[in-house]
Amino acid sequence: MSSIIKIRDLHKCYWVGTMPFPALHGINLDIMAGEFAVLAGRSGSGKSTLLNIVGAIESADNGSVEVFGQKVLEMKQDQRTRFRLNNIGFVFQAYNLIRVLSARENVAYVCQLQGKSRDESMEIANHWLREVEIEHLGYRRPDQLSGGQQQRVAVARALASEPKIILADEPTANLDSQTGQNLIHLMKDLNQRLGTTFLISSHDPDVKNAAKRLIKMTDGQIVDEWSKIPRQPISISSACPIQNLPFFERMRMLIKGSAMKRRHKQEQKKNRRRS
Ligand code: ADP
Repeated sequence: MSSIIKIRDLHKCYWVGTMPFPALHGINLDIMAGEFAVLAGRSGSGKSTLLNIVGAIESADNGSVEVFGQKVLEMKQDQRTRFRLNNIGFVFQAYNLIRVLSARENVAYVCQLQGKSRDESMEIANHWLREVEIEHLGYRRPDQLSGGQQQRVAVARALASEPKIILADEPTANLDSQTGQNLIHLMKDLNQRLGTTFLISSHDPDVKNAAKRLIKMTDGQIVDEWSKIPRQPISISSACPIQNLPFFERMRMLIKGSAMKRRHKQEQKKNRRRS
């Protein structure tokens, strides 16, 4: 039982010509399975760089990063691509959806990249769009959706590959406060129900309030940290019991969960109307 993300003495400096732009100075961090952790800090403190290195999008100068025991910094390009596809779901500030594809196709696309058939991919996409409550908008292209709806599609896309970790970089930055709060609620609900680990960068106070663990960064260093719950290492199987089940069994449980959530909402609505 150990951390699923293990970062040791990580350093990164960007160079523009001969000008150095230091980004990370000796980061040490462990993230356990099932955490809902937020990297906080001012713009320029190194949050995105850290997420990008963990997600094998960027390289580093020194140090080590292990995700599920895999040494991310030592991977070759094709290993990185496979690693990202099978382990990490990304949610970006600017949504990064493919403009010419519908919401459903955007979500299905990652499943097809994983080698699933078109029909199976569409079925999975429908499921995750339902999970983030926008299945009825699946036919629309990104430019026909609001910012909040696009970010829900991005969350559905991040989940569709069944990643064990979601890395979200300023996910609420382009959303109004209510839509941002709804998104935070959605991510926390997914973290609690599915056990998916979330590592989120943000300077949004609402995201920070929702954190179970807050990691504060300044000038490329971790300067402070607190946790709402005592952090005990938990095994991936106990944090994500659902991820150990066969595909159709998982779908059955998730669909049952969605139906219960819908029923609960309908009952709440009825009660509101009555009162
Ligand atoms: P944050 O996400 O907290 O805003 P970043 O990780 O984006 O911080 O940036 C950390 C530092 O690295 C900043 O000083 C930024 O200017 C610099 N930096 C980030 N990306 C680049 C880049 N592609 N080229 C040069 N400098 C960069």
